[in-house]
Amino acid sequence: MTNQSLKQLSDQHILPTYGRYPIAFTKGQNCRLWDADGKEYIDFMSGIGVTSVGHANPLWVKAIADQAQNLAHVSNLFYTEPGAKLAKRLCALTNEMKGVFFSNSGAEANEGIIKTARKYSRDKYGEGRATILTLDGSFHGRTITTLAATGQDRFHNHFHPFTEGFRHVAPGDTAALEAQGNDVCALFIEPIQGEGGVMPLDAEYVQAAAEICRKRDWLLLIDEVQTGIGRTGKWFGYQHFNIQPDGLSFAKGIAGGLPLGGFMVADKLLSTLGPGDHATTYGANPICCAAALAVLDVLEPLLPQISQNGEYIQEKVKAMNLPVVAEVRGRGMMIGIKIKDHPPATINAKLLEAGLAALTAGTDILRLLPPLVIERKDIDAGLEIMRNILSQDF
Ligand SMILES: *Cc1c(COP(=O)(O)O)cnc(C)c1O
Repeated sequence: MTNQSLKQLSDQHILPTYGRYPIAFTKGQNCRLWDADGKEYIDFMSGIGVTSVGHANPLWVKAIADQAQNLAHVSNLFYTEPGAKLAKRLCALTNEMKGVFFSNSGAEANEGIIKTARKYSRDKYGEGRATILTLDGSFHGRTITTLAATGQDRFHNHFHPFTEGFRHVAPGDTAALEAQGNDVCALFIEPIQGEGGVMPLDAEYVQAAAEICRKRDWLLLIDEVQTGIGRTGKWFGYQHFNIQPDGLSFAKGIAGGLPLGGFMVADKLLSTLGPGDHATTYGANPICCAAALAVLDVLEPLLPQISQNGEYIQEKVKAMNLPVVAEVRGRGMMIGIKIKDHPPATINAKLLEAGLAALTAGTDILRLLPPLVIERKDIDAGLEIMRNILSQDF
């Protein structure tokens, strides 16, 4: 089938909820993709920050195939090896986190951490202390509750009534945190706002916010769905800030392309949720967890390289001195290029035509989320395409 025929077939019966490019990908190998017409692309998107070990990584493929041959699924009424091993491994990536709940997506991971925060506060303080603070410009998912948590007005149409109990505050505004009343149980933040436009939070603000959380016994919760599992050059984005959160959520990159997410909690939340309080049918799916263990094996030696390559990309783009580029920001393999005077989607379509697959975010950001394993030769080839396209007259 061709790009065109696959587009037609999809458009007939798949609901039109995505604004898609007219391309159907049929194959991926490491940091390259091929579409149904045989055209090759350099991958600077990893899905949307998902295929962190590249496409068809042999260790990842083998882990999945071996696990599929042994056991693909059994319910959470029983124990399985990949989930148990993965939970131990994930906790060892942090100083703070001691327990894991596995979900299937980022939104679900966030739902779980929100439930945990509310129950912790209710158990300890009773009713009336269930409000969760999130930041303007944040993104936390597409369920009714995680949309309510999301601090962007454009997501708050059509689907009323949304879940109560969320208030949005401006990032950087510690006074707004100090001014909150006694109904708050938690602050929930992304270390770098991803969908909101690759906006890194200021370290001083995060540390001040953490101190306010400590003083008022608000839980400090981190949405690491996009920033987690090595994306920023540390295992989790919060680890750049010298803070001790009470919980975090992860998803996107964890299983290298299979659906897996979850949340992790520190000591004081370990027994907040008990039997019957939370569950999901596919949680800790053995194949997904085996894939995730392979992802962690592949990424373990690469963290320094992820940071260095991120700095290299940012320096290179800045050195291009392009009039259309207003700012370059981000950390590790999570980079935002602020575009002046043109919609980034137009530029992204031109990049695709030229063989580079990148992303956009917010209203004016070209977003790069390359596979974490990407090598300099692929980075250079991708940047050369970018330089050609971005230096054109639009
Ligand atoms: C993508 C994302 C989510 C939602 O994850 P899904 O797997 O799409 O439900 C939540 N939070 C952040 C920060 C994200 O980037």
